[in-house]
Amino acid sequence: MTAYICVTCGVQQAPSAAPPAACPICDDFRQYVPAEGQRWTAVEELRAERRQEVRELEPGLHGIGVEPALGIGQRALLVRTAQGNLLWDCTPLLDPEAVRALGGVAAIAISHPHFYSTMAEWSRQFGAPVWLPRADAGFRMRTDFEIVEWEGEAAPLPGLRLVQAGGHFPGNAVLQWPAGAGGRGAIFTGDTVSVAGDRRWVSFMLSYPNLIPLGPRALDRLLAALEPLEYDRLYSSWWDKVVESGAKAAVRRSGARYLEAIRG
Ligand SMILES: [Zn+2]
Ligand SMILES: [Zn+2]
Repeated sequence: MTAYICVTCGVQQAPSAAPPAACPICDDFRQYVPAEGQRWTAVEELRAERRQEVRELEPGLHGIGVEPALGIGQRALLVRTAQGNLLWDCTPLLDPEAVRALGGVAAIAISHPHFYSTMAEWSRQFGAPVWLPRADAGFRMRTDFEIVEWEGEAAPLPGLRLVQAGGHFPGNAVLQWPAGAGGRGAIFTGDTVSVAGDRRWVSFMLSYPNLIPLGPRALDRLLAALEPLEYDRLYSSWWDKVVESGAKAAVRRSGARYLEAIRG
């Protein structure tokens, strides 16, 4: 039995004797199957072809990516707290020794199903529960690991706050790290909020690859969910997609600009 990994989205499927017929994540309207068709890989193959890249982003925060990039190409974040480390989002490749050297993983939380990746492997390797919103339960390809279901708001570790903002998926989440950015606070957004080409701005989409904008009601809900959070810095899913400072004002300003554009 092999737990196949989709090359397009990087999400690992439940173990099976033969490659699955399709990837439900890529078959969904928010993703896509490339013109060449569905392709699969597996953990052993990835280990032979690629390596894990770890970078310190600021005191208490490391990024973990895969080189060369695979699928959506996201990097995960490992944030240090007095009660242990939290892994935010996942990557398909896992080098446990490098992560153990940073203090391991006490809890895992994931922004949305596109980054479920090899969460089962990460969870089992570190004995860390994965916090997943009830709203996206239908997108879990693997369930053979410890899952903590949540809704609305949760604290996966003391001092860290998970907020269900919705948007991209109903359960799309954001994590608030108050100690980040020198105590001014940071949020990790996955692609719930995406940093634009001009990094003073952010954006929001229902589907990024298929270019479907998020509707006004969903965006209003998302902005309202972020409004009570204090933060100065915003980390989305890619190495260079960070709003270094003034992020709260950038989200407000970008939300207003976006609503104006889609309302015409
Ligand atoms: Zn896929
Ligand atoms: Zn996504």
